Amino acid sequence: MNKAAVQKLVIVGGGTAGWITAAAFARLLGKSLQIELVESDAIGTVGVGEATIPQIIRLNTILGLDENDFIKRTNGTFKLGIEFVDWGKIGSKYLHTFGDAGINIASVPFHQHWLRAAQTGHDKDLWHYSLHQHAADHAKFAKLDRVGNTPMSGLAYAYHFDASLYAAYLRQYCEQRGVTRTEGIVSKVSRNAESGDITAITLDNDREVAGDFFIDCTGFRALLIGQELGVDYQDWSKWLPCNSAQAVPSERLETLVPYTRATAKSAGWQWRIPLQHRTGNGHVYCSDFISDDEAGETLLAGLDTKPLADPRPIRFTTGRRERFWSHNCVGIGLASGFLEPLESTSIHLIQSHVSRLIQLFPRSENADAERGEYNRRCAAEFEQIRDFLILHYHHTQRDDSEFWRYCKNMDVPDTLKQKQALFASSGRTGRDADDLFRDASWVQVMLGQGALPKGHDPMADALLPDQLDEFLGNVRTLIEQSVASLPTHEEYIAKACMAER
Ligand SMILES: Cc1cc2nc3c(=O)[nH]c(=O)nc-3n(C[C@H](O)[C@H](O)[C@H](O)COP(=O)(O)OP(=O)(O)OC[C@H]3O[C@@H](n4cnc5c(N)ncnc54)[C@H](O)[C@@H]3O)c2cc1C
Repeated sequence: MNKAAVQKLVIVGGGTAGWITAAAFARLLGKSLQIELVESDAIGTVGVGEATIPQIIRLNTILGLDENDFIKRTNGTFKLGIEFVDWGKIGSKYLHTFGDAGINIASVPFHQHWLRAAQTGHDKDLWHYSLHQHAADHAKFAKLDRVGNTPMSGLAYAYHFDASLYAAYLRQYCEQRGVTRTEGIVSKVSRNAESGDITAITLDNDREVAGDFFIDCTGFRALLIGQELGVDYQDWSKWLPCNSAQAVPSERLETLVPYTRATAKSAGWQWRIPLQHRTGNGHVYCSDFISDDEAGETLLAGLDTKPLADPRPIRFTTGRRERFWSHNCVGIGLASGFLEPLESTSIHLIQSHVSRLIQLFPRSENADAERGEYNRRCAAEFEQIRDFLILHYHHTQRDDSEFWRYCKNMDVPDTLKQKQALFASSGRTGRDADDLFRDASWVQVMLGQGALPKGHDPMADALLPDQLDEFLGNVRTLIEQSVASLPTHEEYIAKACMAER
């Protein structure tokens, strides 16, 4: 950084990353910054990324978006979690919900009480006590903060939406707030000879766009942070081996279920995302274990509704940039790294990186401290999510294909080994305090895909056996009563946020 303050911000790329970045900057720093976004219709966007996690509600609140308008204009639906089919073993399934099961007693998590019961023969699984599971089973949804007048939390939710409508929606938001959009392909990048900072980009129509600070949102190309500044990429394929996807839209589901489905396949997994007007589908796989042709056939054979196009291939390498901020340039979105879409975390990472960047945005000539802090925190966040994703592949009893045998037997990071060992011993999670995924998430994946822990937290022994039975019964009754009073997901959308046809 050579200037006393950043006055002109240039964002290169107009996919989800570019427009979220522009929207957040326009909203929070728009009065002091001139913002220009450069994108190329000829290059286009990756065109996927349609499932989110609850943190997106915070972004929408910061931007001041009206939820119903947002859902209407993106053909959106609501999401209570992800149904994982065939992950632990073929024939198994569980919902990774956005909420906690049951009710905690004092500081003892509900799952510890349930675990104690299960270890002495109780035959109902943890999800029997999950409000989210029960609502998902009946395709019901409403905004519910709390269950009646009880300590049980209500429905935590996120959204599914059409990625291209989402980018268009944000673009309109940004343009109304003074962001300038410039069309063109970047053909040259100019740098200050002394500092190495980027000073301008030149487009294929010879237009030069100068700026003080540049955000690289050019997707997998990573035009500025990767190609120009040469920041290396850490490849995590040995832990997350999927490197390819094929995506295809299909007709809408007959029943609009409020969850994403992720079905494990012989060399990867297939997603199904229900939208109001169509269904998003894709097969994520490792090309070392299956040919593209076979992967395409698997995708089409696994559709629940009629395809509306031919499958579209996408290649990727899971991993992250060594540094996210280099010189006067930050990479955001796919340019900064990619954690495969199993837990719908990429849009969240965009949001989290933008918010961190705004908090640390350089105000003085020397931004070394801010840059260092930004890089440290982004790296930690990537690694925490990485471990949670690896868990899905590694914590399995599947050994029916070469791919699953590899995943089951691979050597995983020590940080993950420790969490698995702790859970196997006592059902405790060992979650880091700033981990994106809550205790309930770790518990659900470990229980949903693996064996029951050997022990439980001794604090869960406080209830007498009869009291424990009564408590579990009461929790279940509350859930049934609460879900019985909810509208269906479809009825909720029809009333509040139906897209125009
Ligand atoms: C198979 C798959 C499934 C996914 N599913 C999910 C999901 O369910 N949930 C989720 O949160 N995320 C998901 N993601 C991630 C999500 O799609 C991305 O995080 C998101 O779309 C952001 O992409 P982007 O904006 O970084 O890149 P892109 O969409 O690729 O946009 C890049 C932009 O840069 C521009 N550009 C590139 N080069 C130039 C140039 N030379 N000159 C000018 N402009 C240029 C392009 O025109 C475009 O506007 C998925 C990703 C993949 C691969």
